[in-house]
Amino acid sequence: MRKRMMLSAAAMLLSSAAFGQAPAPAFTPDPAAPKGRLPDAATPKAYRLDFTILPEKDGFSGHDEIDVVLKQATQHLYLHGRDLNVSKVMARVGKTIVPATFTQVDATGTARLDFARAVPAGAATLVFDYTGKFGNDASGLYHVKVADRWYSWTQFESIDARAAFPSFDEPGYKQPFTVSVTTAPGMTVVSNSPATGVQKAAGGMETHRFAPTKPLPTYLVAIDTGPFVRQPGTIAATPERAQGMPYGIVATQAQKDKMAYAFAETPPIVALLERYFGEAFPFPKLDQIGSPIMPGAMENAGADTYGDGILFLDPGATTSDKKEFGMVVSHELAHQWFGDLVSPEWWSDIWLNESFANWMGYRIANEWKPELGIGVGALAEGFAAMNTDALEVGRPIHQPITDNSQIDSAFDSITYGKGGQVVAMIAAYLGDEKFKEGVRLHLKRHAYGNASSEQFFQSIADAAHDPKVLAALTSFVDQQGVPVVDIRRQGTSLTATQARYAFIGSTPKPLSWTIPLCLRVDAAKQCSLLDAKTTTMTVPAGRVVMPNVGGTGYYRFDLAPADWQALIASSPTLGGGEAVATTDSLWASFRAGKAPAAWLIAEARAMAANPDPAASVDPGARIAGLRSRGLIGASALPAYKSLMNAVYTPRLKQLGFNPAAGAYKAEDPRQQELRHRLVSLVADEAQDAGTRATLKAAATHYLAGDTAALDPGFLGDGLSVLAQDGGMPVARTLVERALSSEDATLRSSALGAAASSGRTDVANYLLGLNDPRLRSFDRLRVIFGVIGTLATRELGTDWVLANYERLVADANGVFISTRLPSAFAAQCGADRAAAIDAKVGPAVRRANVGVLAYERTLESIRLCGALRDAKAAEITAAVTTAGKATS
Ligand SMILES: [Zn+2]
Repeated sequence: MRKRMMLSAAAMLLSSAAFGQAPAPAFTPDPAAPKGRLPDAATPKAYRLDFTILPEKDGFSGHDEIDVVLKQATQHLYLHGRDLNVSKVMARVGKTIVPATFTQVDATGTARLDFARAVPAGAATLVFDYTGKFGNDASGLYHVKVADRWYSWTQFESIDARAAFPSFDEPGYKQPFTVSVTTAPGMTVVSNSPATGVQKAAGGMETHRFAPTKPLPTYLVAIDTGPFVRQPGTIAATPERAQGMPYGIVATQAQKDKMAYAFAETPPIVALLERYFGEAFPFPKLDQIGSPIMPGAMENAGADTYGDGILFLDPGATTSDKKEFGMVVSHELAHQWFGDLVSPEWWSDIWLNESFANWMGYRIANEWKPELGIGVGALAEGFAAMNTDALEVGRPIHQPITDNSQIDSAFDSITYGKGGQVVAMIAAYLGDEKFKEGVRLHLKRHAYGNASSEQFFQSIADAAHDPKVLAALTSFVDQQGVPVVDIRRQGTSLTATQARYAFIGSTPKPLSWTIPLCLRVDAAKQCSLLDAKTTTMTVPAGRVVMPNVGGTGYYRFDLAPADWQALIASSPTLGGGEAVATTDSLWASFRAGKAPAAWLIAEARAMAANPDPAASVDPGARIAGLRSRGLIGASALPAYKSLMNAVYTPRLKQLGFNPAAGAYKAEDPRQQELRHRLVSLVADEAQDAGTRATLKAAATHYLAGDTAALDPGFLGDGLSVLAQDGGMPVARTLVERALSSEDATLRSSALGAAASSGRTDVANYLLGLNDPRLRSFDRLRVIFGVIGTLATRELGTDWVLANYERLVADANGVFISTRLPSAFAAQCGADRAAAIDAKVGPAVRRANVGVLAYERTLESIRLCGALRDAKAAEITAAVTTAGKATS
């Protein structure tokens, strides 16, 4: 699974259902029921699922048969089923029927079967007839109306299969599923395994049947039904696979003209993965399915599902769109082996699934199209996770999960960003071949079964013949926190000292790590395992020391002033990974109270010349973040504009700027991306009048029907300038254009532009919108746009505070629950944290949803206050000086 990072570091998701009535809890509490893992009284062996699905209806019906083996005779059994109306349930033992009742016993969907009499030990079949309601968000079995036609999809990870059928809904149980779907004639139905035929059914309906699947856990089952378009093809044989493999791209009618890119680019990614794993795709076919409301993507075995905007690219798609496509498709397809072929024992091990797929997603995407520069994104994600990991509130990557309410919080930036970088660090330290050998050994040992993290470590250690690597791995996986390595040089003697990184205002307890430290002095590189607090080594004398070679280490560094200055001066020539590592460590040093603010500005100036698009603008985007959080005093705002102008406008002038569609399509894709990023800084932060006028004119032509006037890469910026200057009439036009379109880019750009206009009247209009076409994701963009803009932040925050309990009650599914609390992340100061906690803290803790994300948000708000108290005056003075020097 991969969540989409579509808004900002403070991204969150809200449920559209939030604006209806919160459903009453429909369960009968049972204090004896398990809170986490089910007892092993029954082991499921096979499922037969027969659904009737008419997506335009409110709900669906099912007949579910589960073959189980009972450990001993029993009259009661715990399993799962959430918000289902079970009309009939029984156990069939040979020819004997034992009637039963079904009772849901908690909100997470634990359920109990009570049999009329004891069912004997051994084989039995549990039989259910039931109905359920379609969800409106991407969780469980959900439906969406797309351009007047209804479609349904499933999204079961982590614990939402139980909202579609009674089940033993845990990853440790793997068994075959035999699925059928009865629906209206002419529909397309896609599931995990190949279709075996369509038969006429009662009432003029048709029944679609599918072959039994390979052994799967419930969370990987997929069933999609509707008037889809399916483009079928064959992925040619590879050295690892003797036969061609059928695949298909599946889209709603609204996306049918945008399937070519996914159709062309899926086979090469499958082939690259087969080459890495050294074995054939583990399932008999592959479908790649788009959904308009999927906030990310999901690796259902043989039936991956993606948000439309990820999978379906325009011919004029931007470099960022292509990078996201490559990284997410590679991530989901890597899971077909790592996750689907070998599945986690329990949710405590889900980190390994996601950390590995995250690393692999970037790696394979980088092989797929090296010219896009995808690898740096992985490192940027790892460094972003450090700011979360450095908080006092938190968790290690690997942690026990004993309660169902903790499962969704395992899918956070620690799992994806930190976990991915820890895998990268170990792979880099061991060398590619040894690491790959360990991965292949692991897949062979546990194919079509389950494995724990410890079993993976064992496979890696067995292949590497290096027990020390386990100490390094566990020191990063089993403890929270970020190491910082302080480097001091004297001639050819270099001393490295490790400590736990701490922000100003924070005193986390000290920890130590076994750090694979790779540094270089000029071009001379050396690696060692730093397992003591301090170590001294001999290095060549040289000008520049770079303590994190390639940026792949999960640690920060600090330097003596002269070494910082030399490293900053080398910014234009650093590789992308080392450049983002340098920016992260310099800002970390500043936020720890060490590096002065003036160095941040010096580094932004030097780094602007770096050719990597992300590295080049990263420091400027961070300085813009200081402004947005109110850390640059009002007196310095004119100087701030001059500074941004002086740093970024000449770079944009040098590249040239023509907003018309496709003006630069023949250019190096990384240069295209750099231009997109520069335009945002120059238009929004430098407020350059010429760039704004160019964008405004192009956006005006675009809205008047000349879509060639504005390239998709500049759509958001163009519409934003128009919305800032145009007020309510423009906002109304943008909302109408967004809601009447199935183009993911237009929809998000238009709503995002209106929401971030900084105008109170527009913000109130948008928050009050009650249009049935407004989906959860649209609502989300609106709320985050309003809160993300300084001028409307308080208004938006007050609105979310006033509606919080209703929003939490309806937050549904893994994509939503853990992000809801980050709505307040842009606030700053202990007083603000206390006020927010007084208002919503009790509701958050009562709902027991996303509590860790909420605690992290509060700590960040308090730490922002500590940074402001210690540094705002210094930042303001540094910006004033720098701005004066440029004007
Ligand atoms: Zn994943």
